[in-house]
Formats: sequence, structure tokens, C-alpha cells
Amino acid sequence: MTKWQGKVAVITGGGGVLCSQIAECLAAEGTKVALIDVAEEKAQEALRRVRAVGSDGLAIRASVLSKDELQAAADQVLAKFGRVDFLINGAGGNHPRATTTEDVSFFDLPEDAVRFVFDLNFWGTFLTCQILGKIMAAQKEGVILNIASMSSFRPLTKVPAYSAAKAAVANFTQWLAVYMAQEYSPRIRVVAIAPGFFITEQNRYLLLDEKGHPTERGQRIIAHTPLGRFGEPRDLCGAVKWLLSDEAIFVTGIVLPVDGGFAAFSGV
Ligand code: NAD
Repeated sequence: MTKWQGKVAVITGGGGVLCSQIAECLAAEGTKVALIDVAEEKAQEALRRVRAVGSDGLAIRASVLSKDELQAAADQVLAKFGRVDFLINGAGGNHPRATTTEDVSFFDLPEDAVRFVFDLNFWGTFLTCQILGKIMAAQKEGVILNIASMSSFRPLTKVPAYSAAKAAVANFTQWLAVYMAQEYSPRIRVVAIAPGFFITEQNRYLLLDEKGHPTERGQRIIAHTPLGRFGEPRDLCGAVKWLLSDEAIFVTGIVLPVDGGFAAFSGV
């Protein structure tokens, strides 16, 4: 029996490109994975991948913006597995309408789109930590892993709401790490990864043209990434497994870049 067997992970946005890969990597070690997503079909597909590598889990349709749906999801996970060892807050992303373009300046960004992006990335993480973090508080152990971004450290052009929300996610990761350790247990850790640039549904329109070639923005990102490429979803697995494991038992409140060196490079 490995250290991962018998563990239970809950992953929001679990049907997405990055988090379905993380789910598969954890499942391959023997962890059970509950996949929460608004897109039920995508969660079901991710569950098929979890089962294909020999583990089991749940696919649950729920929005991270709904307290009631999250509570029902938490109840379902507890009924089936009895505990939550890991929470990965992966639901998030940008939206084209919250992006400045040649035609739409900052001054004309629609309020509903800005609020949608800010809420999905920050409020969706905060609320999920309230509902599922409470289970960890009662257990007196667990690890919460949030998904920050390069825009947590320095904002990215065109995406002010996404940048602000991811900066808030990084700040909240530190806040909650201190709170959980001081108020509940030093065996509850709260950490984040900050992925560099990975091609997924939410950013494809910014990074690749119709023929699949890097846009001008995509080219600038690769030029600014010392390892010289976009990330592959599997590149996240080592860092995630390390942060969740007892190998990182004295690590809390950090935001770990997994970015091919993007954050380290000044451009000169
Ligand atoms: P993705 O669009 O493939 O995955 C996001 C998933 O979240 C989707 O399956 C979507 O259905 C789900 N989702 C959307 N709204 C939801 C809601 N209200 N409740 C529950 N689920 C919801 O995108 P991804 O790139 O795999 O993104 C995963 C996370 O990684 C996001 O937080 C994103 O901001 C972050 N991130 C991505 C990159 C990148 O380069 N792709 C870089 C840094 C950070």
C-alpha cells in the first residue's frame, strides 16, 4: 500500500484540461478522485481516465459559485469516501468579453464579464475552501492546493479581471495557510501552484491562431520562457504530488511557479 492509497482528492474544474490531467496522475498513484465541474460530460470523461489508470472516484455536476451545490457535492463525497485529504481548486479561467482588444478598451469592458471572471477565479476558490475546508478543519488534517497564475505576481496585459483575481488567490492562499495552522491544526496546509502558459480552452484564442500557430502574444510568451515552450499538462504533476505529499510537510502558504522559468526572466 503506497502513501497515496486510501487518500481522497476533490478537484474543482476537474473536467478541465489541467485538472483532468492532475486527476489522472493522482489516480495512477491510487488516490480516489471526486471531480466537480459545471460541465458534467467533461467530469464524466475525466472519471473515465481516473478509472482507466486503476482508481475510482465520482463525477459531480456543481458550480463553485453555488454554496448549495458545493455542500451537496461535499455530502456526496463524504457519503462515498468518508473524508477529504486533498482539495484542488482548479475551476477558473478567463473570458473573451473580459479581455481588452483593439476594439474594446479598458473603459468599455462590460461589468458583467469582469465580475464573472473575478468571481469564478477568486470567489469560486474562497467558497469552496469554506465548504470543503470545514471538513479538513474537523479532521484536523488535509492539504488545499489553489491554482494561481503568472498573473498573480505581475498582471498580464489584456486580462485585468483575471490578473486581479489570481493575485487575490495567491494572497488568500497565504491568509488561509496561516489561519488553518493557527486555528485548527499544523497538519492542514494551504499552498498554490502558479502554472506558466499551457494551451487550454480558456486561452487558446489568445495564444494560437486558426491554423494552430502561436499568435504574436503566443510567440512573445515562448520567447519569454527560458525553457522555450508552452507547458504540457503533465508537467504539473510532479509539483502537485510533492506539495500534496508529506515530503512537503513543512511547506505551507507558498505559491510555486511551474512555468519553464517565465517568472524568473526579466526579458533581458
Ligand atoms: P479549462 O477551461 O480546461 O478548465 C476549467 C474547468 O473549470 C472547465 O472544465 C470548466 O467547465 C470548469 N468550470 C468553469 N466554471 C466552473 C464553475 N463555476 N464551477 C465548476 N467548474 C467550473 O482550463 P485550464 O486551463 O485547465 O484551467 C484550470 C485552472 O488553471 C484555472 O484556474 C486556470 O485559471 C488556471 N491556469 C491555467 C493556465 C493555462 O495556461 N492554461 C495558466 C495558469 C493558470
